[in-house]
Amino acid sequence: MIYQRSSALFQEAKKYIPGGVNSPVRAFKAVGGDPIFVKEAKGAYLFDEDGNRFIDYIASWGPLILGHAFEPVINAVIEKARKGTSFGMPTEIETELARLAVSMVPNIDKIRFVNSGTEACMSAVRLARGYTGKDKIIKFAGCYHGHSDSFLIQAGSGALTFGSPNSPGVTQGTAKDTLLADYNDLEGVKKLVAVNKGEIAAIIIEPIAGNMGCIIPNDEFIHGLREICNQEGILLLFDEVMTGFRLGKGGAQEVLGVNADIVMFGKVIGGGLPVGAFAAREEIMNHLAPDGPVYQAGTLSGNPLAMSAGLAMLTELNKRSEVFESLADKTEHLHEGFDNVLRQKGIPYQINRFGSMISLHFTDEPVVDFASSVKGNNQTFKKYFHGMLEKGIYLPPSAFESYFLNDALSYADLDETIAALTSVFE
Ligand SMILES: *Cc1c(COP(=O)(O)O)cnc(C)c1O
Repeated sequence: MIYQRSSALFQEAKKYIPGGVNSPVRAFKAVGGDPIFVKEAKGAYLFDEDGNRFIDYIASWGPLILGHAFEPVINAVIEKARKGTSFGMPTEIETELARLAVSMVPNIDKIRFVNSGTEACMSAVRLARGYTGKDKIIKFAGCYHGHSDSFLIQAGSGALTFGSPNSPGVTQGTAKDTLLADYNDLEGVKKLVAVNKGEIAAIIIEPIAGNMGCIIPNDEFIHGLREICNQEGILLLFDEVMTGFRLGKGGAQEVLGVNADIVMFGKVIGGGLPVGAFAAREEIMNHLAPDGPVYQAGTLSGNPLAMSAGLAMLTELNKRSEVFESLADKTEHLHEGFDNVLRQKGIPYQINRFGSMISLHFTDEPVVDFASSVKGNNQTFKKYFHGMLEKGIYLPPSAFESYFLNDALSYADLDETIAALTSVFE
């Protein structure tokens, strides 16, 4: 394929935007080469500035679960835009989206809208601290909760009692309140809780992880976290920015059968516009300003265009709940096709899949946490990524991201993808 115009646009972008992108993973640093500039997209297909067509497996990193430029969402936004784009005053549509979201998700009474998943997670942690009167949080290595300071943390030298920054600009002071545990390691969590008894406000987790590939929690682990939280007065925070309204109407809480205390949303809930949200039972949410003392605000929060996109998206998903099953079936079809190809070629690999999330790791060992996910062979991944791209298949340009299937993908698209894999490892 020819990427002449994309490359020229990237050179120009780099003059004015750091790295030429507004979010780092877009820059192709992990796979090499220049990023592709999108011109437009429809359904399952992306069209770049050079006129190339790609079958899309990222769906804007999750939001576009019903495909690109989905008519009901686009129409809702256009109609709304004609009436004004922002007022900084309450509008009815905020309540409509809140009511619908609360009706779809178990165990939540009230929801607050923000503008991104980052904001949702950051605000949820503040609320958890304000509610419990405690400072520390436990997060899991490899889980991503946006780029706010408290989450950019690695295990520190005194890892049982404090973390350390993993980005310049994050202070030691912030890092000391974030403790790091390993995914699927309940004993590790118990140890942290014991050593920091009475100090932990929240355990925050991606209930199905999607930011170190797709990683599934084992039953004992996820139910064990709930139990520890109950025993110790810790709030369990489910970061459902990826899983919310993707794994089912009620998200991971519903499919795993585990209730969280605060749930965070992003991606699908905005239908492709910038929306995040966090939600909880009434007694917790009432601690939030203006009802309670925990401060949180936003000039563009509950923005009418964003709300109209989210409302159109959730309305459709609520109406067509069979879509989740159909997406899971498509994902299984892809999984089986990839299995057949890779087994035949004798390439070491692991595929993890849950609902419409799936990831491929080039390693012999089961991928169950961050440490096992980084063992994948990155040379093989690069060959795979660029080989697939050349065949018109757009995958996440990093081995640590889940693929997100969308409803517009046909079985013919999936079979084209499987055939592309065959030719990549010829
Ligand atoms: C994408 C993501 C975020 C961050 O959301 P942004 O809208 O990019 O700020 C947080 N948590 C999870 C699990 C995510 O996948």
